Amino acid sequence: MYSHLRRIFTRAALLCAPLIAAVGMSSAQAAGGVVEGPNVVAPDRYVYYPGTEVLAEDEVRVIACGTGMPDQRRGQASACFLFEFGNGEKLIFDLGTGSMRNINALMIPAQYLTKIFISHLHTDHWADLNALWAGGWTAGRPVPLEVWGPSGQTEDMGTAYAIDGFLRAFNWDYQTRAFKITPVPGKITVNEFDYKAVNEVIYNQNDIVVRSIPAIHAGDGPVSFIIEYAGMKLVFGGDSSPNKWFVEYARDADFAIHEAFAAPEFFAKDYGMPPQLAWRACCEFHTSGPAFGKIMSEIKPRHAVAYHTMEEAHQELLLLIRSTYDGPLSIAMDMMVWNITKDGVRERMAVSPDRASGVPGPTRQPPPEQGRADPMSDFIKAGEWAPGFNAQNDMLDEHAEKYKLQEMDWRKQKPWFKSDE
Ligand SMILES: [Zn+2]
Ligand SMILES: [Zn+2]
Repeated sequence: MYSHLRRIFTRAALLCAPLIAAVGMSSAQAAGGVVEGPNVVAPDRYVYYPGTEVLAEDEVRVIACGTGMPDQRRGQASACFLFEFGNGEKLIFDLGTGSMRNINALMIPAQYLTKIFISHLHTDHWADLNALWAGGWTAGRPVPLEVWGPSGQTEDMGTAYAIDGFLRAFNWDYQTRAFKITPVPGKITVNEFDYKAVNEVIYNQNDIVVRSIPAIHAGDGPVSFIIEYAGMKLVFGGDSSPNKWFVEYARDADFAIHEAFAAPEFFAKDYGMPPQLAWRACCEFHTSGPAFGKIMSEIKPRHAVAYHTMEEAHQELLLLIRSTYDGPLSIAMDMMVWNITKDGVRERMAVSPDRASGVPGPTRQPPPEQGRADPMSDFIKAGEWAPGFNAQNDMLDEHAEKYKLQEMDWRKQKPWFKSDE
């Protein structure tokens, strides 16, 4: 009885409180309760503390690491969903601008964040690849990154071309890090697949199968992903207007993520978009609330997730979705977390410190590569100012002694080095 009332209350509260977007059914189970004393552990309050929970073998944890728009804001990153599987695999679906801040707040060792699936090549879906690439490199990732992404109508519109260009753009970063640290983590393996593939397998490793279906968005190339694990079907929809492939292949999914855009009036009034663009942005290049609801009513997922809308528009978006869909639903916010098993979907918010970063994993990086060309010339090195460098000697001597680095003292090769001895 209580839980029934609670559900009604939750449902009613949602209509006036857009910040809590979980609705109904056995998903998003009731949490909370009474704190029984002044010095006891508090009951579950919809909170996920990263690093404190081991997944069951048949469980998947999905974390929204970006749910917003291309236009960056401090409180909401662009599209990114991290899928963590009970068997230890972690796959990143889209890595939009700003999303690495959220991924790093989960404090996962960089060595486990190496596989990225890109739905399409708009920056709000992959531009933080640079932050994972370089940040993970300095944070100890021992291996290259691997990227899966679609081809395009022509070669220069595909993922392989994009990654090639990425590595060219960041060549200075690559060469300097490769010399100073080690080159291997700076490499990127690209697995480009046909964007026209319909439900074809593009990844099959460690009991996880990923399939691709075409999406309709801005030009040829965009896709959505169907993920199969432990007898479940999970769907990550990239940007798309309503399309027949999603309706056919996401049908009966255990968990279906699909974009849902704010209404045209929101874009025109709050976003300053010309009205003639606003009603196409929402509803021709993307999927609006009523269209999202129609799709979900048709495919009937066990749990539906909408994303790609500014949080201040969530309340209106919820009402629009509810005009065509009354099933289980979350409107995703950054750091929203779902644990998914055959038995249910549990929604929480991750709570993590602003200053967290990835913790080291067990595998060490290979040492610097011998024989690489030094990217710094003698002309620049001759500008090293002796008093500044020698001012650090006490601190560095202490460090050398503590870690037994005397044999590797880089200062001995420097003309300015003045040892105290
Ligand atoms: Zn897009
Ligand atoms: Zn987008």
